[in-house]
Amino acid sequence: MGQWLSNVFVNEGIHHIYINQGRIVDIIPKHQPMPESANSWDARNLLMLPTLEDYHVHLDKQFPADRWIARRRTDTILDQFHLEKELLAPHKAGMKDRAIQTLDQMLASGTTRARVHVDIDPEIGLRHLETIVHMQEQYRGLVDIEIVAFPQQGLLRSSSIALLKQALREGATIVGCVDPAGVDRQIEACLDSVFDMSVDYGAGVDIHLHDQSYLGLYTIERIADYTQQTSKQGNVAVSHAYCLGEIDEGASADIAARLAEQNIMIITSVPIDSALPRVDQLTALGVNIKLGTDHTGLDAWTPFGSPDLLARGRRLAEIKRWNDDERLRAVYPYLTSAPLEFQIGAQADFMLVQALNPEHAIAAVPEREIVAVQGKAVAGKQFDRAW
Ligand SMILES: [Zn+2]
Repeated sequence: MGQWLSNVFVNEGIHHIYINQGRIVDIIPKHQPMPESANSWDARNLLMLPTLEDYHVHLDKQFPADRWIARRRTDTILDQFHLEKELLAPHKAGMKDRAIQTLDQMLASGTTRARVHVDIDPEIGLRHLETIVHMQEQYRGLVDIEIVAFPQQGLLRSSSIALLKQALREGATIVGCVDPAGVDRQIEACLDSVFDMSVDYGAGVDIHLHDQSYLGLYTIERIADYTQQTSKQGNVAVSHAYCLGEIDEGASADIAARLAEQNIMIITSVPIDSALPRVDQLTALGVNIKLGTDHTGLDAWTPFGSPDLLARGRRLAEIKRWNDDERLRAVYPYLTSAPLEFQIGAQADFMLVQALNPEHAIAAVPEREIVAVQGKAVAGKQFDRAW
C-alpha cells in the first residue's frame, strides 16, 4: 500500500501527495479529497524541496568530535599537508566511525548524493578506500556515493600512481590530483598521468586546483586541452579553481567559453577566505557549476566546516548579493540536479522544511524536518513522528 502525505507545500501551493513504490504517483490540490481509507501523514504545510548533491567532500579527515585538537598556523599548502598527517596520526583507528558520523550528518541535512575524495598515498595505501567502498555499499539507497582516488600529498610528489591505478580497479571511478604546478611542480607530467589513467580505466577526472591567478588559469587551459585530446568532455571537473576569481573578467570569459565547449565542470565550496570563481558569469556562458561542502566539521584543515549544503547555497547568494527572488531560486541548480517542481512519476526523494517558499529556504536555511529517499523517511528533526 502507498502513502499519502497531506498538506504539503509543493509546486507553489498546498497539495496532497501520493507515494507508492518509491515514486510520486499523484499530486492533488488541497481542496480535493484524498481517498477515505487513505494511509496518510499530515505534513502541516511543510515545504517540499528536492534532496541535495554534495559534489566535493572528504570523509577521512575529520577530527574526533568530542575534543578540541589544537591546530598551529600554516603558511604554505605543503606545510598544511604535513600538519594534516601529524594531527591525524594518533586518530587513525576511528576514521570509519567518524566517516559514518559525517555521512549521517550530511544525510540529515538532505544530502543524498556525494562525491567523496579519498586520500591515497604510500603510507595510507588503500585503507581509506576500502572503508569508503564498504560505506558505499552500506549507504546504498540512502546516499549515492561516487569515489575519487585522491593523492592528497601530490600525485607525483608522493609517488602514488601505482596505488591510484589499484584504487581505480577497486572501486574509485574518478581520478584526482592536486595542484599540478604548485604541488607536483610538473604540470605536463601530472596531467599526462591523470588523463592516461582516466582513459585506461574509463574514469572521470576531478582536480583540486588551489594554484593562483594566471598559473591556475594556465593549468585549466591545459586541462581543457587534455580533455579535448582524450575526448573526456563531460567527465572532467576542476575543484576550487580560486584562480578564476583572481584573473580579470575578460580572461575569465575566455576560459569560460573553453570550459563550456569541453563541458568541464567547476566545483566550488564557496570560500570566503579566498577568491570565488565568477559563478554568475560562468553560468551565463554555459559552464556547469556545482557546490560542495569540502569541510564538514572540525578537521585538519579548518574548524569552520559544516555538512549542510543548503547553507553553502545561502553563502553563495549572500556573497553575490542575490537578494531578488529570481536569483535566490537560481541557487538550487548548483545544489541539486532535480527540479524544484515535483512531477508525477518522479522518484520520491525530498526534504521537508519550515519555510514560506524555496527562496525563503535558501535565505533562512531551516532545519530539515524530514529527509526522504524513495518515499521513505530516513532522517530529519521529525524523523521520530514520520510515516
Ligand atoms: Zn578537497
